[in-house]
Amino acid sequence: MLKYLLNLFYPNVCSGCSYILLESENQICTTCRHEIPLTNHHILKENEAFKKFYGKIPTEFTSSMLYYHKKGITQQLIHNLKYNRQQKIGTVLGEWYAEDLKQNPTLNTVDYIIPVPLHKKRLKERGYNQITTFCKALSLNLSIAVDDNLLFRNQNTATQSKKNLINRSILPENTFEARFNQNHHNKHFLLIDDVLTTGATLENCGRAILQIPGAKISIVTIAFSES
Ligand SMILES: [Zn+2]
Repeated sequence: MLKYLLNLFYPNVCSGCSYILLESENQICTTCRHEIPLTNHHILKENEAFKKFYGKIPTEFTSSMLYYHKKGITQQLIHNLKYNRQQKIGTVLGEWYAEDLKQNPTLNTVDYIIPVPLHKKRLKERGYNQITTFCKALSLNLSIAVDDNLLFRNQNTATQSKKNLINRSILPENTFEARFNQNHHNKHFLLIDDVLTTGATLENCGRAILQIPGAKISIVTIAFSES
């Protein structure tokens, strides 16, 4: 009864199109699920996400789940995930994508899932890392542990503050450090982020992880932006 009343006044709406959800629908309505722009990267190794890292860092496997278009469903989902506290979107998409990723044998050798860490200031403002629920859902469904204690975003440092103004605005957000021990040697790490655009952040994360002796990396993102 309470649930009925709550639904009457605060109906659950679709995170993609804001239409009221049916009882049987979970977070994303049936229409959006049909129209969501899946990339199918997981069935082709040399896909466009993989190619973004050509000549930059070696990856075993790279894929994005969805195409990101301005004003499209994916943009709406990412916006609600990031700014409207709708962390359940990450869970729903992660459960969905895990089924696709299971078909790719390269990921059978992954030892750890590594979420791209949020800048400390952003984490404080937002209260959560938007990629956490997606990582957890992949972890549960692929039986791979999440390690969120390996990769760190560098904060302002003495050397960075000596750089010029332009560099200073870029560096603190985009430099990373892997704090590893012997247990991390010769492992395969799966880096996860929300949107793959230029790939600069993931490239920097990858470089930090590749400092670990014998490390291999793969990359998965929720969305792929062509621009
Ligand atoms: Zn919808």
